[in-house]
Amino acid sequence: MSQGSDCTEISELGTLDSVIGIARGDIDIVSPPKASTASSGKGGISLTNGVHELLDCPICSNSMYPPIHQCPNGHTICSSCKLRVHNRCPTCRHELGNIRCLALEKVAESLELPCRYQKLGCHDIFPYYSKLKHEQQCMFRPYSCPYAGSECSVTGDIPALVTHLRDDHKVDMHNGCTFNHRYVKPNPQEVENATWMLTVFNCFGQQFCLHFEAFQLGMAPVYMAFLRFMGDDNEAKNFGYSLEVGANGRKLCWQGIPRSIRDSHKKVRDSHDGLIIQRNMALFFSGGDRQELKLRVTGRIWKEQR
Ligand SMILES: [Zn+2]
Ligand SMILES: [Zn+2]
Ligand SMILES: [Zn+2]
Ligand SMILES: [Zn+2]
Repeated sequence: MSQGSDCTEISELGTLDSVIGIARGDIDIVSPPKASTASSGKGGISLTNGVHELLDCPICSNSMYPPIHQCPNGHTICSSCKLRVHNRCPTCRHELGNIRCLALEKVAESLELPCRYQKLGCHDIFPYYSKLKHEQQCMFRPYSCPYAGSECSVTGDIPALVTHLRDDHKVDMHNGCTFNHRYVKPNPQEVENATWMLTVFNCFGQQFCLHFEAFQLGMAPVYMAFLRFMGDDNEAKNFGYSLEVGANGRKLCWQGIPRSIRDSHKKVRDSHDGLIIQRNMALFFSGGDRQELKLRVTGRIWKEQR
């Protein structure tokens, strides 16, 4: 492919075409801005950055995706803002109509941009229209807070979330890969969705969240315990865990693989991927008077040999 000559030819056709030509032909435009970009000729970098800015909606400043609209005076607007402005251009107040900005849509098609989580470590570069999809899956995207008792919108990397769980949610932190936990609840007849407890375990240099909760499974109230790994799914698979609960000569055991906290708490619960204890059995394990839930859950986390 003769990229160089293509680029020169196209850049003689006019402003818009030259933008497309540079965006397609010159790989330099996707690298972080640096002083040496003069080598790409005619200020390719600043031109492309300018184009990228043109693709930010002037109203909400989100990236625009087709259909991109414009007013008769040429002011662009994203499709979700267009629905909200009652057919008036927010920039010039002119009636908006229904004019597509095909040129800008085409320019976007030709752009390649770094992932928005570049600062967090992702160095991949994507065509404009597939960037969004990648970013939803990017392994460098921040994690959501694993605490599920309230609607918590905190996101961050794992060390930040561990600190957040400890300081803001007052979650118990334990060191070691075995545990022996007692759950006591005074009124076991009350089963609310997401009545729950969370403990964080520190082992193998990683953190694991042990969830314990009560919910309604069909008509039956049940208790459930499961483990989530504070990290990505591919790493979670390197670990295994077991849980045991019992008394009076009976015992329930569960062995599983911790789920990544990328999977929501609710998703794990709804897939029943954990130790499920029927309430009658839980009360039996609690020792008789049915007035109090007293469960001793023991468990172990291990690293799979590969
Ligand atoms: Zn917008
Ligand atoms: Zn306008
Ligand atoms: Zn990425
Ligand atoms: Zn939180």
